[in-house]
Formats: sequence, C-alpha cells, structure tokens
Amino acid sequence: MKRSHWAEPYKIKMVEPLRKTSPEERKKLIAAAGFNTFQLKSADVYIDLLTDSGTSAMSDRQWAGMMLGDEAYSGSRNFFHLEEVVQQYYGYRYIVPTHQGRGAEHLISRLLIRPGMYVPGNMYFTTTRLHQELAGGNFIDVIIDEAHDPDSVFPFKGNIDLQKLEAVIQQVGAANIAYLSLATTVNMAGGQPISLDNMRQVRRLTQQHGIRIIHDMARVAENAFMIQQHEPGYEHKTVAAIVKEICALTDGAVMSGKKDALVNIGGFLALNDEGLYEEAKNLVIVYEGMHTYGGLAGRDMEAMAIGITESVEEAHIAARVYQVHYLGNLLKEAGVPVLNPIGTHGVFLNARTFLPHIPQTSFPAQALTVALYETGGIRSVERGIVSAGRNKETGDHHYPSLELVRLAIPRRVYTLSHMDVVADTIIDAYENRFNIPGLAFTLEPKYLRFFQARFEQLALQTAPIA
Ligand SMILES: *Cc1c(COP(=O)(O)O)cnc(C)c1O
Repeated sequence: MKRSHWAEPYKIKMVEPLRKTSPEERKKLIAAAGFNTFQLKSADVYIDLLTDSGTSAMSDRQWAGMMLGDEAYSGSRNFFHLEEVVQQYYGYRYIVPTHQGRGAEHLISRLLIRPGMYVPGNMYFTTTRLHQELAGGNFIDVIIDEAHDPDSVFPFKGNIDLQKLEAVIQQVGAANIAYLSLATTVNMAGGQPISLDNMRQVRRLTQQHGIRIIHDMARVAENAFMIQQHEPGYEHKTVAAIVKEICALTDGAVMSGKKDALVNIGGFLALNDEGLYEEAKNLVIVYEGMHTYGGLAGRDMEAMAIGITESVEEAHIAARVYQVHYLGNLLKEAGVPVLNPIGTHGVFLNARTFLPHIPQTSFPAQALTVALYETGGIRSVERGIVSAGRNKETGDHHYPSLELVRLAIPRRVYTLSHMDVVADTIIDAYENRFNIPGLAFTLEPKYLRFFQARFEQLALQTAPIA
C-alpha cells in the first residue's frame, strides 16, 4: 500500500508536548536509573514505547463518559453499562471489575488452583504465571514450537500444540489441571495470534477431559483482526463477530482494560459459571472492593465500556495494527533483526542477533534497551532472560529462547512521523552495535525482577560469541 493511501482514522484535539534530551544527559539519566528503563522518569523520555498498557489516548467519547461517573459505593450505573457491553461484545454472562488485569488473575488463580495443580498455557505471561505460582500452581508451556523461533513466519504462532497439551493431560491427569490459560495474542511470543481453527480443536480436547479454558483477553480484538486478515473463511467477517466467536470457545476471561479497551486503568474477570461467579463476587471484596466497582471509580468503568465498543471498530483496529507493521517494515527493510511475523501491539527486536557479542547471561536485550535510550531517548522494554525470572524449584534463571526488546506502540498516541524517528534511532544503534556492552545485576528483586532491578555495565566484549 502506498503511504498516501493511508492516514490515521482520527484527528487530534489535545496535545501533550514532548521533551528532547541530549545524548550526554541521557547517558547520566540511564546510569542513575540502574540501566533499567522502568526506572527512568517519563519526563526524561522522548518517545515512550515501554508498554502499550494504560498508555492509550482516550477518545472524546470516553472523556465525555468520564463526566458521567456515578461514584456511588454500590450499584453504580457505570457498572451496569460495563456489564451490558461485556455481554454484548464478548458474550460472557457475569463480570467482576478489578483495578487491572492482574487483579482478575489473582482472583481466578485463588479460586481454581489448589497447591500442586498444573496450569498449561500458550506461553507464560509475567504477572499471570506469578499469580498461578503464588496460588501453588505450576505453569506448563504448551505453545507450538514455532513460537519460540524468532525467524518462523507462521501466521498463528500463538497456537497451542495439541500433542503437548494431550501429553500434559496424560502425565498429570485432568483432575490436576486447574484450567487451560489461553491468551489471545501472545504477548511474550511477540504479539502473535492464535487461530480459531486451533481454538476449536483445543476446545474439543479440553471438553473431553472436563478442563476449563480461561481466556487472557487483553488483546482479543487485535487477535480477531489477524484472523480476519489471515485465516481462511474469515475475510468477510467483522472483527466484532470474530471476537465473539473467540470468547464463545472459552469459559471465562481475565481482562486488562489497559490494552484493547483503551483505558488508562481498569480490568475485569468474566465468567459464565454462576457458582464460580458467586465465589469471585465474594472474594473481590477482600482484595479490590465491592463487586460493582472492584477498585475502579465509576468514571473508569464508563470509559472502559466505551473503549470496548471502540476497540472492535474496523478502522480503529486496522490503523492500530497498520502503524505497528509500518514501523516493523521500516526496520526489516534496513536489515535490523526483528521477530517475525510482526505482531499486533509492538515490534520486537531479536537481541541475540542484534548483539551477537553479548551472551544471554549478560542480558543482551536489557543492554539493547539501554542503547536505544542513549541513542535517541526511545524507551523500550526487555522481554528476555531478565523478564523470564528464575525457576521456582532450582533457583536458576529461566533461559527463554526468545531474547527480545519490545517496542510497544501505545494506541492512538504517536504518528507515523514518530515511527520514522524510532526506526532511524534503532538503525543508528544497529550500525553502532559492537560498542554496546553487556550488563550484570547489582540489585535483583524477588518478584517480577525486571520492574525494579538495577544493573551495571560490563567491559565491552569485542568478539562475537560462538
Ligand atoms: C498486561 C497483561 C496482563 C496483566 O494486566 P495488568 O492490567 O497489567 O495487570 C495479563 N496478560 C497479558 C497478556 C497482558 O498483556
């Protein structure tokens, strides 16, 4: 497509100025942040691609909805609006609002996991696996092998490997499986979708064994768009219809409204089983708040309800993914190693090939996030060995085959010109890659270490490692 045939399907009503820093300032700032981009001040970042979570620009409709907040302690009208929208667009019967996605993960993990149980899933997610483990569960990865290969161009790398899943069921017994944790677009695999064909086969297998499917639906609309684009038989279906078809193949969901649903804060747990809903409704009071607000203000629930309806609009979702692919293609054309295919919420750099001279134990992806900040004030995030954490039995690092830097694109926030600047910065860093040193921990927190860890720079390694 010619670039002039495309433009963002919105115009800008309010702007937020950006500040540029000098390379000398940035060298000091990232060192003071312990070489961890999470520890930078936002004001010191030029283009912020740390995450697409809670960073979206809300629409004028959503802001208008904020003024309609019913801040009653109980029975807020915004809760009933949100409930209606979830039923209409996702088809789940019951919802319990939570402050964000992990609030819902906490509840479902406590409700369904008994110590020693297993939770298979299509690749781990950081907070999801931690809540499963804190409840005494053991996560087992059953995603297809292609998902672990950054060069495989298979269009549905989020698919579940039925043989792996069946082997887990045979090995531990269906009664010891708390549920199947199924994500639509798999974040840690690079924002890769799962196909409806695969979901149907997974549904058949799990139903034979009476295993529930809990859907991590943070980016279900993005997944539905990829199905519309690439799965035979869906090219004429709307994204909204595909979203509903996906949800219908699952028993409940955890939602981070900070992704698809275009809000700065919010989430929910959705369920079809009335008994389980009654338990969740009771448990949420302990950790989040009454079941008609779950840690959210009425106005936040209203903004999320409106955001859900916008998330499945064809022009919106196409533009969202187009912008991500625009950046990805600029990098690919310049020969920068990116994960294939390009995902829906961000472009993922393959740090192993970008920095062949840094061994995985010196955190190449983390080192690359430092270089991108130093080069152009671009904030990105490590999705490799640091994010993967340690094995809870052995205490050794998990060694993921994917050693990635994620450039997550906030929704409706940046323009294609910003993407041009990001691409040029990364290309500069690539040309200078052999001057990028590895890192070592100086502080390693116990839980989700990537958020608060601190590092020091190692001496520069000159020869590529074998
Ligand atoms: C963000 C995210 C979560 C957790 O949601 P929070 O709103 O950040 O608590 C869970 N799963 C996936 C796939 C996510 O991207």
